[in-house]
Amino acid sequence: SMDLGIKGKWALVGGASKGLGWGCARALALEGVNVVMVARGAEVLNQTVANLQKEAPGVKLIGVAADITTEAGRAALFSAPGGPGKDFDIVVTNAGGPPPGDFRNWDRDAWIKAVDANMLTPIELIKATVDGMAARGFGRIVNITSSSVKSPIDILGLSNGARSGLTGFVAGAARNSQIASRNVTINNLLPGAFETDRLRVTFEGLAKKTGQSVESLVETRKKLAPALRFGQPDEFGQTCAFLCSQQAGFITGQNILIDGGAYPGTF
Ligand code: NAP
Repeated sequence: SMDLGIKGKWALVGGASKGLGWGCARALALEGVNVVMVARGAEVLNQTVANLQKEAPGVKLIGVAADITTEAGRAALFSAPGGPGKDFDIVVTNAGGPPPGDFRNWDRDAWIKAVDANMLTPIELIKATVDGMAARGFGRIVNITSSSVKSPIDILGLSNGARSGLTGFVAGAARNSQIASRNVTINNLLPGAFETDRLRVTFEGLAKKTGQSVESLVETRKKLAPALRFGQPDEFGQTCAFLCSQQAGFITGQNILIDGGAYPGTF
């Protein structure tokens, strides 16, 4: 196997009790990285942490039950007992995505919530950790965004808008000379359709609305990607772990699609 050279580092992973965040936490832990895992629901989180600890007995795993989109939640994760404080080497920003809908129904509060969760929270996490990374000469930040940044989905307007704001910010911040010259990279990982709880809930909602069965909706959706399947959280996590590796130090400011070829453009 390829040694990613990050054993013993400390990672922060948002939204880590399920889905893509869990995939990232798992891949990092299996590389020997200590991980602070954040999610709101304590029960599922504690179970996830306990399961992962069995798979990766040599690393420190700390579950913090908190809402990462709030200042209080971020304060809690930065002061987790046994954790590294703000001295993370790796930060994977992630939280739930905003709900679908019709933009005509979204008021200022709906927009502020989406911008808070999917733009300002990653920016706050970057701000809190990036200068320490630069001072220590190693840092890897990966923001989980969405393929909808490149290929917008009408009903996901809150996501299209808020995540595009984050994408614009990251494009500049990653190229800040005091960050890029000190072995600190910031990249965005753009999932297409991955088999997670979120996807399942989306299909259940769609099935109720359209009267179609979940199975037929799933089959139709799978065919939208040339790979003819959904992605798995593990392969998402392993790609994330590579972006966090020593070897990936020259990759920065990029938006990396992981979508089974669904996006049809040459670039
Ligand atoms: P998921 O299976 O629903 O998992 C979401 C995880 O985030 C859970 O652990 C959840 O736990 C946690 N979480 C949600 N809100 C949080 C908050 N405010 N603070 C802390 N933790 C929070 O979702 P997923 O499919 O992995 O999606 C992750 C992200 O990728 C989302 O932003 C989603 O929009 C985006 N995305 C997913 C896909 C896909 O196909 N799955 C495609 C494109 C984009 P709690 O609920 O207990 O907090």
